[in-house]
Amino acid sequence: MQNNISKYQAMKNKLNLLPVILLTLLALSIMPSLYAQNNIQLRVVRGKIDTVLTRVHYVVGVATPGSVITINNLPVKQYSTGSFGAELNLDEGPNTITVKATSGGYEEVETFWVYFKKPLIVSKEDQMEFYPKPLIKTKKGAYLNYGAGADRLGGAKINFLAEGIKMELMDSVNNLYKVRLSEQNYAFIPKQFTERVPFGVKPPFSLTGSWSVSNIGKADRVRVSLENRQPYTIYRELDPNKLVIDIYGAHCNSNWITQYLDLKAIEYVHLRQTSSDIFSVIIKLRDNFSWGYSVDYVGNSLDITIRHTPDAITVPSRASLKGLIIGVDAGHGGVASGAVSPSGIKEKDLNLTMSYMLKEELEKRGAKVVMSRTEDVDVAMQDRLDIFKRAGIDLMLSIHCNAGGNPLKPMGTSTYYRHIEYRTLAETILKRLLELNLPNFGLIGNFNFSLNSPTEFPTVLVETLFMSSLPDEEQLSDEKFLKEMMVKVAKGLEDYVKDVKKSLK
Ligand SMILES: [Zn+2]
Repeated sequence: MQNNISKYQAMKNKLNLLPVILLTLLALSIMPSLYAQNNIQLRVVRGKIDTVLTRVHYVVGVATPGSVITINNLPVKQYSTGSFGAELNLDEGPNTITVKATSGGYEEVETFWVYFKKPLIVSKEDQMEFYPKPLIKTKKGAYLNYGAGADRLGGAKINFLAEGIKMELMDSVNNLYKVRLSEQNYAFIPKQFTERVPFGVKPPFSLTGSWSVSNIGKADRVRVSLENRQPYTIYRELDPNKLVIDIYGAHCNSNWITQYLDLKAIEYVHLRQTSSDIFSVIIKLRDNFSWGYSVDYVGNSLDITIRHTPDAITVPSRASLKGLIIGVDAGHGGVASGAVSPSGIKEKDLNLTMSYMLKEELEKRGAKVVMSRTEDVDVAMQDRLDIFKRAGIDLMLSIHCNAGGNPLKPMGTSTYYRHIEYRTLAETILKRLLELNLPNFGLIGNFNFSLNSPTEFPTVLVETLFMSSLPDEEQLSDEKFLKEMMVKVAKGLEDYVKDVKKSLK
């Protein structure tokens, strides 16, 4: 019974409420305009983040167009779309952000909190935590060797290195330092091209940044930004024609490669993290023949510059070598006599005579010739290179005579290249020389002659005949024969240029 009474009571109460609910619904339905005015619809769409690591903080929101907006009591502009935004400078720790929108006497407020956590700034001194091994830094002219071996022209070179590159010093072998390129790789560097770094400094490492690949006139350039100057080695592949630069102590962080469409030497560029601390820049070249490249740092960016095929080659012309600028290097000179023949002929004199003959032959075919020496003077190797670089030569031929071996036998003729991409040039010249019925002393690759080292332009060394061989000496003493040999050298170069032109079709 008690139960029934309670049920009745409850029902009665509900019935009493009903008119109130109905009245409210009625009131709402007759006041739609009043309700719409309060509908500001404030929404914060950006900036509601628990924790941030940067002081500058953006808050972006949207509210009914025509509202008055403030963020932390400062008015902000509202666009016709209803969107608004502000840049805030956060305090360290918790920040209260209040966004207020007012319209037609109504307001809507949204409040949230953003915690600004200041990133830990490590001072330069703290970063350079003590490193227990000594470091060296490269100077101008530095290059890497594979090993500590040496011949009369020095050990086998890997490549030149830009200055200002720091590497861990591992050992000292005669006039070389053994240096660490990466965890697993080392090389050797002549001491004279290094300086010591204050003890305790760590070897550099870098995250790779953005790249740009552009046509800078007579060359295409790849620029890879790094955080420090890292050591690198350069590797060449011919089929397909590729240039690969391994950067040691670099970790891939590149996600942006800007490539312009007017490139002439480069077909495309690519990258590869070859091992955990070696980053490879892969450059696919367009043409089959190469006209030189250079690798150097500009700031901490590694610049790889690849020369275009000379315009002189691509423009049709009746003269076979027209427009080409050719460097002719007469070996030795002055106090440096080179080899001396049994009868007392000096190599330096023959080299100069033949160089003038070659100059004449090349000019006859339309080329412009730059000589590293024009008289009997000694010119340092670096100066010879500088002369050619300044003149912007397209390729270089160095003229020498050989020595050694059996004095009673004709020893013959030979050509030499250092970089594989210039093998064909050395080969075409040798083939023409052999038409003079000379013994073939050989097509010699990876040769360490210093004027074969530069990568900036193609180079070939021509060792005409042997000063030390009596039959060879007899031929070398005949000016008419010297001239014949130089005609063959010029013809070999013509053949080469023909091959290049054919490959471009
Ligand atoms: Zn010589």
